[in-house]
Amino acid sequence: MSDRTVTVFTADHGDVTMPEPLWCLGDHPAEGYREDVEHRGEDIVLTVPTPCHGEVQLTTLTLVQRPFSPTDPHVRMSVDLDGDWHDLSSASLAALADAMVVLAVGPLHRSIERLQLLEDGQ
Ligand SMILES: [Zn+2]
Repeated sequence: MSDRTVTVFTADHGDVTMPEPLWCLGDHPAEGYREDVEHRGEDIVLTVPTPCHGEVQLTTLTLVQRPFSPTDPHVRMSVDLDGDWHDLSSASLAALADAMVVLAVGPLHRSIERLQLLEDGQ
């Protein structure tokens, strides 16, 4: 935690001053509702190599926190999955990582084996 604070104008509560975490990029536009005020960190872009387009974006992660949210005021890792942002706890992020491993050793490797057979003319 830092001693930094930031003040954000909200339509429902006027100026709201709150602690500014070190990881927040500090981009705080005015908000209609205080509960929508959000800290957001730097994007972490995960890429995979392709032979045709070089590095291609697989997903993007970023730290977020909506400190006045009535449902979830905690720090989360927001993950872009299929065009939607999903705010995950560390346990949920670990489950996502485990699910990605299962996909890699399951259907992805089965697809590799099938493709190898087809490439070999079988
Ligand atoms: Zn912030």
